[in-house]
Amino acid sequence: MPAMPVGGLVPRAVEDATGHTVGNADVVVRNARIHTGDARRPQAGALAIRNGAITTVGDDADVAPLVGPSTTVVDALGRRVVPGLNDSHLHVIRGGLNYVLELRWDGVTSLRQGLAMLREQAARTPKGQWVRVVGGWSAEQFAERRLPTPAELNEAAPDTPVFVLHLYQSAILNRAALRAAGYGAGTPNPPGGTIVRGRTGEPNGMLLAAPGALVLYSTLAKAPALAPEERKTSTRHFLRELNRFGLTSAIDAAGGFQNFPENYATVTELAREGLLPLRIAYHLFPQTAGQELDDLGRWIEAVRPGDGDAWLRLNGAGENLTWAAADFENFAEPRPELGPYEGEFEKAVRMLMEHGWGFRLHATYDETIRRDLAVFEKLAAEGLFPAGNRWLFDHAETVSRESLDRIAVLGGALSVQNRLSFQGEVFARRYGTGAAADAPPLRAMLDRGLTVAAGTDATRVSSYNPWVALHWLVSGRTVGGLALRPPQNRVDRATALAMYTTAGAALTGEQDVKGVLGPGFYGDLAVLSDDFFAVPEAEIPFIESLLTVVGGRIVHAAAEYEGMDEELPPVTPDWSPVARFGGYQASTTGPGVPGVPGASGARQAELLGEVVAESELHRRWRTARGHATGPQPSFDPCFVL
Ligand SMILES: [Zn+2]
Repeated sequence: MPAMPVGGLVPRAVEDATGHTVGNADVVVRNARIHTGDARRPQAGALAIRNGAITTVGDDADVAPLVGPSTTVVDALGRRVVPGLNDSHLHVIRGGLNYVLELRWDGVTSLRQGLAMLREQAARTPKGQWVRVVGGWSAEQFAERRLPTPAELNEAAPDTPVFVLHLYQSAILNRAALRAAGYGAGTPNPPGGTIVRGRTGEPNGMLLAAPGALVLYSTLAKAPALAPEERKTSTRHFLRELNRFGLTSAIDAAGGFQNFPENYATVTELAREGLLPLRIAYHLFPQTAGQELDDLGRWIEAVRPGDGDAWLRLNGAGENLTWAAADFENFAEPRPELGPYEGEFEKAVRMLMEHGWGFRLHATYDETIRRDLAVFEKLAAEGLFPAGNRWLFDHAETVSRESLDRIAVLGGALSVQNRLSFQGEVFARRYGTGAAADAPPLRAMLDRGLTVAAGTDATRVSSYNPWVALHWLVSGRTVGGLALRPPQNRVDRATALAMYTTAGAALTGEQDVKGVLGPGFYGDLAVLSDDFFAVPEAEIPFIESLLTVVGGRIVHAAAEYEGMDEELPPVTPDWSPVARFGGYQASTTGPGVPGVPGASGARQAELLGEVVAESELHRRWRTARGHATGPQPSFDPCFVL
């Protein structure tokens, strides 16, 4: 592995007086501003990693004797280094299986640009394949602040099926996709969903979750899937895309259509081959309504939480235990009124507790959380809850103070996501700014001493970019720039980072080995492009990692470090949108974000601001990767600079 220039450090490998070999570090990071996350030593200048774990944290002089001929020395050039990030609620397994098939609008700042990407992708997509934009964006991030129309999709892609998913609210299909899906005047609406029709009764291309998302997912399921070998390449590229932002761990939330063990085979194989560049703790989620107890019972017989290793391990059940107990978070629609679900739900939780299984539980609204808590309290009175098991609520946007008190008594934790980065505007319109200011009540959670881990809920409802989520925690703003949470319900940057590191480690029982840069902890870290603790708040979403290390392995390297990372096979298939556009577009700031032109004024001024912002972003993006700067081709042919 190539080493960075070692200023004043002479490589050596000798034994010291006690017979220990010195100069045996695998990786040394020096000349750094390290935020350790360790209260005993919050700041440091250098660290050393051996056999995947941190051995030394100190200054350059402390690590100098550890540098030997085989040590990779990273000169951080004075940059900020943080513990590797941990997204505590990411649909990482499902995201990986589909990544190379998706055109990502994450971070795209205008619909014009999105449509230009779509047009170009449609032209390079072979017959029989679809172009799919599957979440991770919101209309509010566009200068135009609107969705594309079916007519625009038809114009951009006359013959290639196009499926565009907007949050869990709607999907827009072009004519070719309606044909490929077999939707016509005689097609009935699926339960909980609407196929919007024109005056002739023919579908016009809009699908609405009203409020259930089945109509969206079942339509997407008609598009071709990848072959098993391609799923591995797709997953590896997705995980490396996450590494690009400094992510080194994720807790998978499972999800609909994610079957065990079939859909876990890809990450399991990668783990077996030592090829995972990200640590994954996963959950098991019963797929079929009415058979949940059978599924859970079978799994309890076959596997145990904690099974696995430092890279891939089972963490329990969830985020659904029974389908009837799940409240759907389409904030554009009224809160769903759940029927009686407590009977089966209680049986499921009782079974888990009796067998040493913890769980995570999807619950958006306080109305649901209160009903769940009543079940838990009943079991607790029998001594069956939590019975030494870890458990947590996911989401909890509208959880009340009273429910938080009850969660604390029952030994629960929370996992919150920046879903309102993307749905904040519709949430505020429906429930008012007062409710939005408290959604979720971060400070009330933290003030009670609860473990509150952060994440995204990517890839369909949110983007996977952790810096967008960290920005949301700190600023309370949506990607459209709307300030939802007032200062008293925001968190400082150190707290936000802890929610993205140590808190996630606690949810998987790994708090003694993960989330902190201290001796004995995993060698998981990120050298950041900009100092998270010093950049203006509006710049936080721009941060990327320049060098990401997981277990002492360099899994992402850009700028000065380019070429130091592990090799990755090329993206397949060669027409993949990822091969052309990559993943997250480096253009997070947009109209409405403070300091960026385009928030108001004449349309002309908006467009000009957009072009300026885009070219500046593109320049920064290329500089960060060590590419040539200067005039670059734009995705939007109207705006070639
Ligand atoms: Zn959920």
